[in-house]
Amino acid sequence: MSLSIGFIGLGNMGGPMAANLVKAGHQVKVFDLNQSVVNLLADNGAIAANDAKHCATDIDVLISMLPASKHVKSLYLGDTGLVHVLAKTTLVIDCSTIDAASAREVGAELGEHGIAFVDAPVSGGVAGATAGTLTFIVGGDDAHFNQAQRVLADMGKNIFHAGDIGAGQVAKICNNMLLSILMAGTSEALQMGINNGLDPKVLSDIMTASSGRNWTLELYNPCPGVMETAPASNNYKPGFMVDLMAKDLGLAMEAAQQSNSSTPMGSMAKNLYTMLQHQGAGSEDFSAIFKLFSKE
Ligand code: NAD
Repeated sequence: MSLSIGFIGLGNMGGPMAANLVKAGHQVKVFDLNQSVVNLLADNGAIAANDAKHCATDIDVLISMLPASKHVKSLYLGDTGLVHVLAKTTLVIDCSTIDAASAREVGAELGEHGIAFVDAPVSGGVAGATAGTLTFIVGGDDAHFNQAQRVLADMGKNIFHAGDIGAGQVAKICNNMLLSILMAGTSEALQMGINNGLDPKVLSDIMTASSGRNWTLELYNPCPGVMETAPASNNYKPGFMVDLMAKDLGLAMEAAQQSNSSTPMGSMAKNLYTMLQHQGAGSEDFSAIFKLFSKE
């Protein structure tokens, strides 16, 4: 069924996600603070909105894909927030990775105005966003999940219902904490192999066929030259920025503290990503953590 969809936040992820909704035959109205990405989508069949309010009116579904909690809260809440503009018939799906408490706050405020909300953070990176194979991890009630699922299916392959509003964010943060640990560990192992005379491509093939196999090794290799399509072979152009991974690890550490969880590996990864930011690599891809282990 063709829907009228508003899409706010057309960055590395939101751009290709919105493009897939256009391809699926929906009428897609788009907005971003960066006019050039709006123009790019408009050239490919989307309708350019003048501002967020224009984007959020006369639509069935509003999707947001913004960097962090503060962007999501300021978009929806407060005197100038979209909460005052959205129709009660519009379903709001926030796909940004933010803290669960902020997702619950936005959901509660929209709910008070009779507007349905789910949090639906994603996994799969820019490649998954482009190919329409993302994993969506949804938090919200059953009815809203079912409604959201129909739209999300045009941008992704796996759609999970994690629980109530905020549960999607908790699951996503657990995943990204693990991802950062795997990326750091894979980098450390590859560099040790190189330092001991191994070819990183050969070592990657060996570990991919052995018990060290993991997503970063197999699909997102952090060593330049091993995988032609990976950000590492393209000067660490993101992809998924170091700054965003550091933000997610901050959220993970908050979640750990709130639940009295022991997360020594996550804490180490948070420190490594903070070091990488201090070295000026904040806007590089998160696989640039490989450089921390390099001897050059
Ligand atoms: P990005 O920085 O490339 O894109 C964010 C976009 O939001 C930018 O184009 C920016 O101009 C726009 N924006 C910011 N504030 C706005 C506002 N008030 N109104 C309109 N537009 C606004 O980030 P990204 O990589 O696309 O990531 C988006 C979210 O998805 C983040 O929460 C990130 O953690 C998460 N995520 C990213 C990846 C990835 O691989 N990049 C993977 C999974 C999840």
